[in-house]
Amino acid sequence: MFKFINRLRSVFKTTNASYSLGGQLHIPAVDIMVGGRKKTCEVTMRIISEEPLQFEVESIIPPLSDNGSPSSTAAAQPRTASFICNVCGKKNKDVALETVRDREAPSCSSCGSSLRMRSLIHALSQALFDKDLSLPDFPEDKGICGIGMSDWNGYAIPLAEKLGYTNTFYHTEPHLDIMNITHDQEGKFDFIISSDVFEHILPPVSIAFENTFKLLKPGGAFILTVPFTQVGQTVEHFPNLHDYRIEDKKKWFPCLVNTTETGDKEQFKDLIFHGGDGFTLEMRMFSEQGLMDELTAAGFTEIHVQQENHPESSIIWPITWAVPIIAKRPC
Ligand SMILES: [Zn+2]
Repeated sequence: MFKFINRLRSVFKTTNASYSLGGQLHIPAVDIMVGGRKKTCEVTMRIISEEPLQFEVESIIPPLSDNGSPSSTAAAQPRTASFICNVCGKKNKDVALETVRDREAPSCSSCGSSLRMRSLIHALSQALFDKDLSLPDFPEDKGICGIGMSDWNGYAIPLAEKLGYTNTFYHTEPHLDIMNITHDQEGKFDFIISSDVFEHILPPVSIAFENTFKLLKPGGAFILTVPFTQVGQTVEHFPNLHDYRIEDKKKWFPCLVNTTETGDKEQFKDLIFHGGDGFTLEMRMFSEQGLMDELTAAGFTEIHVQQENHPESSIIWPITWAVPIIAKRPC
């Protein structure tokens, strides 16, 4: 495989390569010469080190054997997956593997859950019950109190039927502003879910980690998903955000104009917006180390980055980053 990496390194600069979430490098067409044979492949790699620059190959389509010929074992691998969705409990048969392994694509034909949603419910089940239960098999116990932050209704509604769970929102009731919690909210919850929210919170994001910790009961669990990279430190896109507005004079090219606390003017282009309701400007790209530092500084322990696969619930991560993280408030 390293022979491929060396060859890819030398050619990717001249191809139509693109970076995506988590430092992934996608090359739609690259000629690979192995054993004197040329084969045009679609290659996805991820950066494992920035200095020196090193890549790890995620996938080569069509797959190759070590001698460059079509791989009989790889070719024989199934391109579909059958699974029981752990969000709705329904069976799914022969779903395209590339859809199942996509973090965001709805891949359950019954509830539309994505890999992220199934992984999140798996993480919650592990944190609360120390086993892998489908959401329909969660015990009914309104004494287990939890909140979500703009959670997806596909699991928020059944979760509220099972447990003492409330979905909260920044823009509407039931309202929660994680940057401004009240004293009477502290120490109330057995679990808190936050799925792809913290990358949008205004800086300094440390306050959100500290407040999440305060909201939990001792022994309570924080189930967190955010996009994150495995290398380097968290990158704050607008570290001095203070008095700002987003201008969009030229449609499709919004610009963030900021006046810092000390009166300096800043302008940012190439803003990244995520889908969803409300304010979805990406404020930062977390790194795994950055997340560990934030969680530890806030007081969390037993921090677990959930990289394990559970094919029976179709939790098959093609990547080891941007996966759910479980963190506990110590007892
Ligand atoms: Zn489902």
